[in-house]
Amino acid sequence: MARGRITDAVKNGRVLVADGAWGTFLHEKGLASGECPELWCVEHSETVLEVAQAYVDAGSDMIETNSFGGTSLKLAHYGLAARAAELNEAAARISRKAAGDERWVIASVGPTGKLLLMGDVTEQSLYDSFREQMVALAAGGADAICIETMSAVDEAAVAVKAAKENANCEVICTFTFEKTSRGDYRTMMGVGPVDAAKAATDAGADIIGANCGNGIERMIDIVAEMRSALPDAVIMVQANAGLPQNINGRDIFPETPDQMAAQVPALIRAGANIIGGCCGTTPAHIRAIRGCLRRY
Ligand SMILES: [Zn+2]
Repeated sequence: MARGRITDAVKNGRVLVADGAWGTFLHEKGLASGECPELWCVEHSETVLEVAQAYVDAGSDMIETNSFGGTSLKLAHYGLAARAAELNEAAARISRKAAGDERWVIASVGPTGKLLLMGDVTEQSLYDSFREQMVALAAGGADAICIETMSAVDEAAVAVKAAKENANCEVICTFTFEKTSRGDYRTMMGVGPVDAAKAATDAGADIIGANCGNGIERMIDIVAEMRSALPDAVIMVQANAGLPQNINGRDIFPETPDQMAAQVPALIRAGANIIGGCCGTTPAHIRAIRGCLRRY
């Protein structure tokens, strides 16, 4: 395989560029709110391919998949639980087509929305739902499974195990943090960056980090905490384009591509190895980050 392993590329000293937001991009291309995004992998596969291709063209080293809500537990909201394997395999095939042999496909796996703590779901059915999704993503050609936007460490650990035990892929696990009134960072379930990163690592994750929730400025603090506790970890960040400003009831992410790229050197100094975008980021943001790394 020309591209090798992501972790080996990082250990050889490369800083890698991931991709940017998918959801908003698909909405721009006509996905209606209330529609199942993953269904577009079969019903509008050319449009999904355009999103992946736009990030390839912008200079991403790795491309996600349109499968964030692709567990059967999530797809059940649309009456599509029985099509989980089909939709995830299609999602991976689309991104594989765009990524070619040179770039990695990192297959997106989001939270199920079910909390083990609340007894919403048993650990076994949570595991089974993740396993089904991950086997299908691997079958479609994913190089890595990217478990993201996690807030509960128990769910994240089940997801990491399901990936390690059933898909022959590297496993990424990123959490979403908010800044508290005390000035530290916690997930919605109250977990700090170091505990989250350690839990994911203990479960077997190859790459850990943070996505969504913050712009690069706050991600610098989060990465520095993770880096000091886990000096050898491979750390990935997918930051929003700044903190949202609510304008006429809509969240607007204010940072321009250049504003975001200007903070990238500090994020690397804090310890980030893989940098991409989340809410509010576009191919233009990724192109600016790529340009910054070329000069860095
Ligand atoms: Zn986001």
